[in-house]
Amino acid sequence: MRSSRFALGLVLSVAACLFFTVVGDTSSATISYHGVEPVAGTARSDRGPGIKEDVPGKYLARYEAWKAEFLSTEVGREQWAQFKADPNFTLTITVSRDNAEGATTGAYRWNEQGALIAATIVLGTRLDEGYPNPIYFPVMNSLVPTESLTRIDGNTLAATKIAHEFGHVKRTSQVDSAVYQLQTQLIPQYNKIFLSNGRNARDPRLVEIESKIGGTPVRIWEDREYWGEANAMVYLRDRFTDERMRCALFTKIKSSVDLYAKSYETRFLEIVRATPNQKTCGWP
Ligand SMILES: [Zn+2]
Repeated sequence: MRSSRFALGLVLSVAACLFFTVVGDTSSATISYHGVEPVAGTARSDRGPGIKEDVPGKYLARYEAWKAEFLSTEVGREQWAQFKADPNFTLTITVSRDNAEGATTGAYRWNEQGALIAATIVLGTRLDEGYPNPIYFPVMNSLVPTESLTRIDGNTLAATKIAHEFGHVKRTSQVDSAVYQLQTQLIPQYNKIFLSNGRNARDPRLVEIESKIGGTPVRIWEDREYWGEANAMVYLRDRFTDERMRCALFTKIKSSVDLYAKSYETRFLEIVRATPNQKTCGWP
């Protein structure tokens, strides 16, 4: 499991950090989730702060339904209001046919003081379909229908993906911008060397890059993904006030976290423990 996980992680991180290619996951019906990161275009200072929804007319109805579902929760309303009211931040949200069942966040911009001032979230046109893999996306994957868990509404799946993307924006605004930008710059270099040196992670050139950016690209990538997933989990916690339903999801999340993300358990556990009725659904 470890080596296959590493291989998948490498493929995903290479894909995410270089040019995205479709990651074939033949083992299950899961989808590759993140597509090509949007890049920061020319300064669009004319747009001003707030949330800019740049959605083609033909996708507007479905987008509004996903958004309404996200805003049906306290966490959704709170995070939306926060980005909307921030006078120093512009969040652009678009809908695109590329990577139809996934979403991607990027085009980050920082000011000279290192504060995040802009980000763009690109949502796929079929965001309400497709389940990301359980290895890096244990929360979104928990919505896969099973015998005990009947199909959850597509709008809820889409809103969970929106919450994952909001989690990326939130996390990127909290981390050191210099480190983040160095990671963006050096990860492609790392991957290029790794793929050309016989995949030797002990290569001194790679060890040096690792020390500069705070870990291997896979490690950095999974850490970012699990922050996205943590925010998605807060959304699900608020969305499913019915205990039976919430516990069914939390139990599935736990089983994936136990298998694939044990060292990141704490950030999920904190969310479980902050459930209003304190019921932990099998989590410690
Ligand atoms: Zn993500």
